[in-house]
Amino acid sequence: MSAKILDGKALSLKLQAGLKAEVERLKMETGKTPRFMNIVIGSDPGAASYGKSQKKVADNIGVDYQFSHLQQHVTQKELIDHIRFLNEDPAVHGIMLHKPVPEGIDFKEAVNEISFHKDLEGMTLMNLGQLFLNRTKIIPCTAAGAMALLESSGVNLAGKNALVVGRSEIVGKPMMLLLLEKNATVTVCHSATTKANRLVEEVKRAEILVVAMERAGFIKGEWVREGAIVIDVGINEDAQGKIVGDVEFDEAAKRASFITPVPGGVGPVTAVCLMKNGIEMFKQFVGKV
Ligand code: NDP
Repeated sequence: MSAKILDGKALSLKLQAGLKAEVERLKMETGKTPRFMNIVIGSDPGAASYGKSQKKVADNIGVDYQFSHLQQHVTQKELIDHIRFLNEDPAVHGIMLHKPVPEGIDFKEAVNEISFHKDLEGMTLMNLGQLFLNRTKIIPCTAAGAMALLESSGVNLAGKNALVVGRSEIVGKPMMLLLLEKNATVTVCHSATTKANRLVEEVKRAEILVVAMERAGFIKGEWVREGAIVIDVGINEDAQGKIVGDVEFDEAAKRASFITPVPGGVGPVTAVCLMKNGIEMFKQFVGKV
């Protein structure tokens, strides 16, 4: 088998076109423009490039996306005061805090200060709890991006063996819940699975394989089940400085039915899902849901 590519750039453009039309309509009806703030502490080059790609999407769909720069030595209290100030600003409809944050800043505590009505990344306790109960449209955006690509395959997930490798709060755990909502039979693996020498057998069983480990090429192509759908969330630099995923792409593509490339897979869809969260919250703000 030779896999079909699940093209993240193409899906991103398609989703952006839909959001652009929706934003135009909302602007006409309300006279307001959705406005999102990305809080960046210090000068992290990763933040600059990630932020740039989000800004590009925001500009394209017609929302106002701004950076709120705080100095490297900001204290936890100053950061929280700043978040509370943005929470109170009626002209701001979405807020995110860029990671990594400097040592001494408690990221989770700070994120949870973001009003859950303005939580762009869907990472406040309230939104995560709502996700657990399947009561929200605000989904952590990387998992939402991975899910959107998976669903673009058109394959019915009900009853399929789905494996998520990685259990982080931003990717693995929300992905587990999203797959469960689609009635997949979900297994989650992590570093203890590998230590127990059980990872390979789990990968071999998976009809849907979602990998978010941050380990370049860790999942060998020969482990991939014939006909599996492979969603590679990982973004790593290999020894030659090339961006690669967590799955050995060329070998896996020989066996899979669908596969995401890295780069050009989950990444481009993630930024659109962030905007989608923001627009959903804007709609709640202006009473258009
Ligand atoms: P984390 O480091 O938070 O989590 C990694 C997970 O992988 C952990 O649960 C860890 O297990 C597991 N893991 C690590 N090594 C092994 C191993 N040898 N065997 C089995 N499991 C292992 O990473 P994130 O979830 O934040 O990110 C994952 C990847 O996704 C990264 O490459 C990141 O760059 C990428 N990413 C991509 C985005 C996109 O837009 N495409 C956005 C965000 C992230 P344990 O819990 O036991 O430690």
